[in-house]
Amino acid sequence: MFESYWRKMGDKCTMVIAGYESLSYFADAKNLCWFLEPKLEEAVKRLHLTVGNAVVGDHHVVVGTGSSQLIQAALYALSPSDEPEPVSVVSAAPYYSSYPEVTDFLRSGLYKWAGDAHTFDADGPYIELVTSPNNPDGVMREAVVVNRPGQGKLVHDLAYYWPQYTSISRAVDFDVMLFTASKCTGHAGSRIGWALVRDKDVARKMTKFIEINTIGVSKESQLRAAKILGAISDSCLPFGPSKYDNFFEYSKTLMAERWDKLRAVVKRSNIFSLPKYPNQYCLFAGDSSEAHPAFAWMKCNDRIEDCDKFLREHKIVTRSGRRFGTDPKHVRISMVSRDEEFNLFLQRLSTIQWSG
Ligand code: PMP
Repeated sequence: MFESYWRKMGDKCTMVIAGYESLSYFADAKNLCWFLEPKLEEAVKRLHLTVGNAVVGDHHVVVGTGSSQLIQAALYALSPSDEPEPVSVVSAAPYYSSYPEVTDFLRSGLYKWAGDAHTFDADGPYIELVTSPNNPDGVMREAVVVNRPGQGKLVHDLAYYWPQYTSISRAVDFDVMLFTASKCTGHAGSRIGWALVRDKDVARKMTKFIEINTIGVSKESQLRAAKILGAISDSCLPFGPSKYDNFFEYSKTLMAERWDKLRAVVKRSNIFSLPKYPNQYCLFAGDSSEAHPAFAWMKCNDRIEDCDKFLREHKIVTRSGRRFGTDPKHVRISMVSRDEEFNLFLQRLSTIQWSG
């Protein structure tokens, strides 16, 4: 949905890579993450400083093929290597539907999916995936498994902690923080994510995982991402020509328009409801606003058992609440599709009335 912004930017992010460039596996042999392009590291740090959403001072940057690869790298790095049983991996429901799949796909001996963090009560070590703002429901979250000193490790998945989706209330400073270009700039296809990791050994292990998995991360993608991240940091400079050149203001306006349209349609319906988000002060924007999450977590009324099935009958494809570890009355709807798709969705949704 941010394509219109990048079109407006014209050639600002165009780059040419000659046939003789970027051949080596190595980007910087002296860096702990030896396949990380220095230009990307610099652009990542500059962007976090510009937005003020995460501290970067003492953290190591590890680049991944999307944050999807970094989730796996983090699970590997945080799993104890001397335990007889795999470590439990939990996340509070509703949780991002990929977590169970990613955790159990290869039936690792190191870690296993243990479900909803709210109901997790087994003894022993665990890893909690904390997604904030959360996918699917847009809520700002904190770890929920508490009172286990020394037993739990946290991975903060901050894919959506950017000003177009939510207010930036502080620069977060967690042990392992994951970000991705997919959600920040819209360049999901470049497959670039990055982790900010406090502990050197954890960062080293994550780097090792990626070395074994893919011997690094595409240099072309890293260089392109560096250019794009650089462009959005530039767009935030105070002497920019128009507020609509500021990437985050532009994209926040788009998100807010979509949410207004969806809320108007839902208000007229006698079937659906949406979560409400509180007004919160954003340090980056310098004003208060409600969240505009990348997904709408929509609920059907009590007379409809399976909201996903009901909507499919009306030619609307969603993801059922069941996939997120919760009930089928909820569905997740993407708020970041292309304009034509989003408008068609609204049009179809607006024609549905309960007649049962
Ligand atoms: N974490 C969350 C919470 C996500 O929603 C997504 C994408 N849907 C990812 C990680 C993975 O993103 P990517 O691999 O494109 O960086």
